[in-house]
Amino acid sequence: MILANKINLVLLGPPGAGKGTQAVLLKKAYGFLHISTGDMLREAIKEGTSAGKAAQGYMTKGELVPDEIVTRAVIGRMNKPDAESGVILDGYPRTRVQAESLDSSLKSENRSLNMVLYFRTSEKVAIQRLSGRRLCPKCGKNYHVTNMPSKIEGVCDICGVSLIQREDDNPETVKNRLVVYEDRTKDLIDYYEKSALLREVNGDLSAEELFEGIATLFKREGLVDDNSDE
Ligand code: AMP
Repeated sequence: MILANKINLVLLGPPGAGKGTQAVLLKKAYGFLHISTGDMLREAIKEGTSAGKAAQGYMTKGELVPDEIVTRAVIGRMNKPDAESGVILDGYPRTRVQAESLDSSLKSENRSLNMVLYFRTSEKVAIQRLSGRRLCPKCGKNYHVTNMPSKIEGVCDICGVSLIQREDDNPETVKNRLVVYEDRTKDLIDYYEKSALLREVNGDLSAEELFEGIATLFKREGLVDDNSDE
């Protein structure tokens, strides 16, 4: 595993684009720190923190949590020592205000974004992925009933406990999350295109195919050593 530089990446795309899956694969191959705002917020809800309590109602409805809450959590996490060598931001930013906050925070630390990977994904594929997604309540591992099934149906390969469906993966909330994405997040494609950071990948591909494509892109752009053995 070789990292050429300190790399800060943003993964952009609708819910169900496979950002989380790719983040896990990228972390494994290149050692990035993976920061998922959805995971951070779900953890905060579990722990009953004030941020968790404030976020819960929005998340249940598939609405965005207010910018200040999410930004505070992300910037706090990015300022920890293990984030210095580079991060993958998965699910952040989701609004222009968040993107601007991220820019100014990185700038004040003499850091910058290296790339924004936009997962262009059809609605049909996104809905199929979200509706079939299953999760281990103990270790957090993600599965999919057909694309990434567990060895025993409905049971985590690692922990042996019953898999659950995320509360916001129900059809009504999924519909709203996709509407919210179109309404609030899609505009960021434009924002990052202007800064020449945006690179588009095909989010409809399988996880393996997409990972191959991203690894090739990283090499082409000099983000990772061409001799790396990922
Ligand atoms: P995710 O796991 O990325 O699908 O996020 C699940 C939910 O967490 C979203 O539907 C939002 O309610 C909330 N959330 C995650 N990231 C953000 C963000 N950057 N801004 C606002 N809300 C967020």
